[in-house]
Amino acid sequence: MRLIEELDTMSARTIRFVLMDIDDTMTTDGKLPAASYEALWHLHDAGLHAVPITGRPAGWCDLIARQWPVAGVVGENGALAFWEEEGKLRRLFHEQAVRNDHPSLQKISRRALEEVPGCRIAHDQASRLFDIAIDFAEEEPFLPLSDAQRIKAICEEEGAVAKISSIHVNTWMGRYDKLSMAVRLLAYRFSYDDVLYSDSVMFFGDSPNDEPMFRHFPCSVGVANVRHYGQMMTHWPAYVTAADGGQGFAEGVRVLLDKRRQIV
Ligand SMILES: [Mg+2]
Repeated sequence: MRLIEELDTMSARTIRFVLMDIDDTMTTDGKLPAASYEALWHLHDAGLHAVPITGRPAGWCDLIARQWPVAGVVGENGALAFWEEEGKLRRLFHEQAVRNDHPSLQKISRRALEEVPGCRIAHDQASRLFDIAIDFAEEEPFLPLSDAQRIKAICEEEGAVAKISSIHVNTWMGRYDKLSMAVRLLAYRFSYDDVLYSDSVMFFGDSPNDEPMFRHFPCSVGVANVRHYGQMMTHWPAYVTAADGGQGFAEGVRVLLDKRRQIV
């Protein structure tokens, strides 16, 4: 990983889309700092298309698409994308997304709660359509990453997909991820061609559920806390910020916009 300050001006000027994870990328200690939210407005005012790409639920995405200065949002780790168009909410669902009352997902919930003491169903579960979120670190008791890995193993034994974020293990049926839905949304809304123009995307993330994005986009950025994941990550971002979480995101956006203004 190179420091984000090393981003060159040509790469900065090629960016049209800025995608970002939310938890522990835009947020710090569970809160959205003013600097982080302001960075979204700076992107908006610079004519760049900002799109949060999150494991958070459909209910949150409805609010984000309507109220935040963004071009859309991908939620539930790629099950859905929402955006606002001419004052109306538009919704795109992945064709492989299966509702979260599926018997396999219900069995996973029961097994995780029995076999990994202290874990619990996330409090945002009521807003979810397609996945189950098992909380290991959003609220107390904070469990170690090894417990998150045990939960993930249970999910996979039962034939589901599982991803570990900084706070939850999310599990779902169907082969989709943050990357596949992000590409679909950009193609649908902006005629984005992923084969030709992946260098027009900057992505910010912080944890293993962001790895498909880190691997795919040449201009991927980790906020400093991405380093916590050590051996758990195979695909690291190209760049890293000096600051953690929301301050790191704001730092990365500031560097991007400054470099775009520089005269070469
Ligand atoms: Mg995160």
